[in-house]
Amino acid sequence: METERRVYLDYSATTPVKDEVLTEMLPYFTQNFGNASSLYTIGLESKAAIDHAREQVAALIGASPKEIYFTGGGSESDNWVLESIANDMRNRGKGNHIITSRIEHHAVLYTCEFLEKNGYEVTYLDVDQEGFVSPEDLENAIREDTVLVSIMFVNNEIGTIEPIRELAEICHKHKVLFHTDAVQAIGNVPIDVKDLGIDLMSMSSHKIYGPKGEGALYCRKGVRLPSFIHGGAQENGKRAGTENLAGIVGFGKAAELAHENLDKHIAHCSELRDYLISRVTDEIDDVVVNGSLEHRHPGNANITFKYIEGESILLLLDAFGIYVSTGSACSSKSLEPSHVLSAIGLSHEIIHGTIRFTVGDMTTKEDIDYTVEKLKTVVARLRELSPVNAEKGWN
Ligand SMILES: *Cc1c(COP(=O)(O)O)cnc(C)c1O
Repeated sequence: METERRVYLDYSATTPVKDEVLTEMLPYFTQNFGNASSLYTIGLESKAAIDHAREQVAALIGASPKEIYFTGGGSESDNWVLESIANDMRNRGKGNHIITSRIEHHAVLYTCEFLEKNGYEVTYLDVDQEGFVSPEDLENAIREDTVLVSIMFVNNEIGTIEPIRELAEICHKHKVLFHTDAVQAIGNVPIDVKDLGIDLMSMSSHKIYGPKGEGALYCRKGVRLPSFIHGGAQENGKRAGTENLAGIVGFGKAAELAHENLDKHIAHCSELRDYLISRVTDEIDDVVVNGSLEHRHPGNANITFKYIEGESILLLLDAFGIYVSTGSACSSKSLEPSHVLSAIGLSHEIIHGTIRFTVGDMTTKEDIDYTVEKLKTVVARLRELSPVNAEKGWN
């Protein structure tokens, strides 16, 4: 038996909560438990803690604290924008057409499908082989009745960073609101919402070393944002419900750390990611790296191993204590081929041999060395067993 080594390479699925973040959170479960709406001292203290977290999240993206609304995560923020803005615009007779892309997270795609069932029209923009949305295609798709464009900042499967500034510029030219799902972007890419011209932006805490079940929506001052959860007056009357106090405090701290460490984080992750890619492509035959090599999430390596099944690779690596993903975590339970890999033009066979490795702050060079060694064993073993390979049926 080998000693039990654990190598977590799925930071795009979720991240561990950092010690500093947990330390900040803990008192808010016990001593500092006051309801932020209460008017006595411990209530006011909770309110002050939430205000501080709002400043920390705002600072990470160049927003004003008043433009930040805390939510229950990235999925809720996406649902809020798409449903509320669409509804409000239709009610005001502005139109019922939305534009998005084929490679969005399901939180956006399935919300769009829901809206289509309710009488909205949605255009799904194609992407090129590297996963880029074309600004020209966007401009051609905008109509008189277009009310919202939603294009993700960084793709969660292949790591491609979209041309957000150009896309937002086109929207403004045509007076259409621009939303971006930046769950994979915050803490991984420098972001200034004012400079980029973003109107609405979704964020999540648990992808940046904060707690799960917490997120935020940035809504530029001046954009009409209808309330999403009706009830109490929390979040400026737009998202009712007693705040997830410890979660918000943790997200705030995680955002502060992400802001302070951004350059170091990017350098650390991209160095290990590039090392992983170069060793895998040098030492294992018949592999393809998917997504853009130039405009890419610093921690993402999405690699296809021809002739074998990604699920088998995942399970054999798991036996060595190495944790990777075959696609996005949300769809990894289904055998449907990834909609992102389909959209960049990969054939079904190729899609099934694809693994997403994502490195993070705790990843070391030894982790990558161990992973590559085990990967070589696993891939060789599976290819020996592969009937497709035995027949040399395809290349
Ligand atoms: C993880 C993820 C989400 C969902 O965020 P939750 O906080 O888990 O709801 C949305 N969009 C993208 C791109 C993601 O990677």
